[in-house]
Amino acid sequence: MEYNRVTAPVIAELKSIVGSQNVLDDPEQMLSYSHDEATGAKWRHLPEVVVKPQNTQQISAILKLANQERIPVTPRGAGSGLAAGAVPFLGGILLTLEKMNRIIELDRDNMFMVVEPGVTTAEVQQCAREAGLFYAGDPCSADSSFIGGNVATNAGGNKAIRYGVTGQHVFGLEVVLADGQVAVLGGKTIKEVSGYNLIQLMIGSEGTLGVITKIYLKLQPRPQFNGVIMAPFASIPAAIQLVPEMITKSGIIPTSIEFMDNLCIKAAEQFLNKQLMFNHAAAYIIIELDGNSEGQLLAEMEMLAEQCYRNNALDVLVGDNAATQERIWKPRRVLAEALRVISPVYSMEDIVVPIKEIPAVVLAINSLSEKYGIRIANFGHAGDGNIHATLLKDQLGHQEWDERKDQLLDELYAEVYRRGGKISGEHGIGAKRKEALTQYIDPVALQTMKTIKRALDPNGILNPGKIFNL
Ligand SMILES: Cc1cc2nc3c(=O)[nH]c(=O)nc-3n(C[C@H](O)[C@H](O)[C@H](O)COP(=O)(O)OP(=O)(O)OC[C@H]3O[C@@H](n4cnc5c(N)ncnc54)[C@H](O)[C@@H]3O)c2cc1C
Repeated sequence: MEYNRVTAPVIAELKSIVGSQNVLDDPEQMLSYSHDEATGAKWRHLPEVVVKPQNTQQISAILKLANQERIPVTPRGAGSGLAAGAVPFLGGILLTLEKMNRIIELDRDNMFMVVEPGVTTAEVQQCAREAGLFYAGDPCSADSSFIGGNVATNAGGNKAIRYGVTGQHVFGLEVVLADGQVAVLGGKTIKEVSGYNLIQLMIGSEGTLGVITKIYLKLQPRPQFNGVIMAPFASIPAAIQLVPEMITKSGIIPTSIEFMDNLCIKAAEQFLNKQLMFNHAAAYIIIELDGNSEGQLLAEMEMLAEQCYRNNALDVLVGDNAATQERIWKPRRVLAEALRVISPVYSMEDIVVPIKEIPAVVLAINSLSEKYGIRIANFGHAGDGNIHATLLKDQLGHQEWDERKDQLLDELYAEVYRRGGKISGEHGIGAKRKEALTQYIDPVALQTMKTIKRALDPNGILNPGKIFNL
């Protein structure tokens, strides 16, 4: 694909569409739009211009212009992504959704919320809570990420075992296509078989097929009670073996089952500047449950606690109020920032495997760590089979780091793929994993994705160089 640069007349046109106060072209002002949360200089690039539209019509006009002029457009939510998905590697227009941040409607009768893409996930959760309802999407980045970014990456998070990932709460979208046409997909019905499921096609498409401008989210009744358990273990196998067993044998569907190893415990301890309980443990397993009967919830918590002890847990700590639950969750929630303190450059992976394979894959990660001399912090949504193996650069030189990391990841991805897993469970492919995707995906599936991309965006202007190269 060939692209053109952003010229002075194009900037003038953009200013006439969104107003000159909503167009930035000073490199210093655009710096914060040159990266997301993927670490390392490789994952940064300045846009030529940043535009801040406030409505769908403006986005439609921007895309019409970009398509006509063959200028790349990179949609951006909050920039909390971990796959360099919102980084404008080819320059062009960075289209930030930050000014489209209205909650349009909270429809109690249908239990739906209609929002613009720039509302933070935490605001969506809060608005549902205030209405006595519940939005079940819950990425650990909820305070910072936008709901539009969650939809574009099909974000997972802490409650996916029980409630599913973001896409399972989305029943309607308004999307601006590459040529500026506006498509309205679905709405407030909870079922629909009126043609192809274009909603799910757009979900997780990482800004490569359209710009999401309106989202219909299904809400749930608010669970009345919840409880949290934290079990420290003396060995990784004992901790991780518990995860598939808890899901298949307990007869209980927990809201969350999270895992963090000792390197993570130590990083969280340093970051929070306080001693954590059982800080010598090889791993923590954190389990959350919710429900509408207090008696049943307590009985289930007791059953799961017993299962932890049978699997040799060193102890079982219970969080039954907001303060004790926060004390248990806090070390898990801060890990992305905490690991950055011990190694400013790292590669946070996002592999996902069928739950039965989790123990074997976690042990494989630890042997690869030893083989390549790279420290790996392991944590993640273990109950979903989703582990964020985080490779730490530490003091390695850049070239050595790149070589060793790439070889290690090749072996890891091959192992994951062989076990029926995928290279990304929730963060997406972005720019970071597009080379690996060509190897670890069914070739016909990849070809079909490219056919869809060419059909919807023949000039390839939308987020070029992400997921795959055309
Ligand atoms: C501390 C931390 C914890 C995290 N925890 C989780 C977690 O538990 N689960 C999880 O899944 N992720 C997690 N993430 C990753 C990240 O928060 C998610 O990927 C999130 O969904 C990205 O949202 P965003 O608004 O920041 O999107 P961005 O990073 O701005 O963009 C992500 C992608 O979506 C596209 N995009 C954004 N908005 C739109 C739109 N309106 N229309 C079309 N395309 C768009 C961009 O082009 C890009 O490809 C975490 C990140 C951090 C830093």
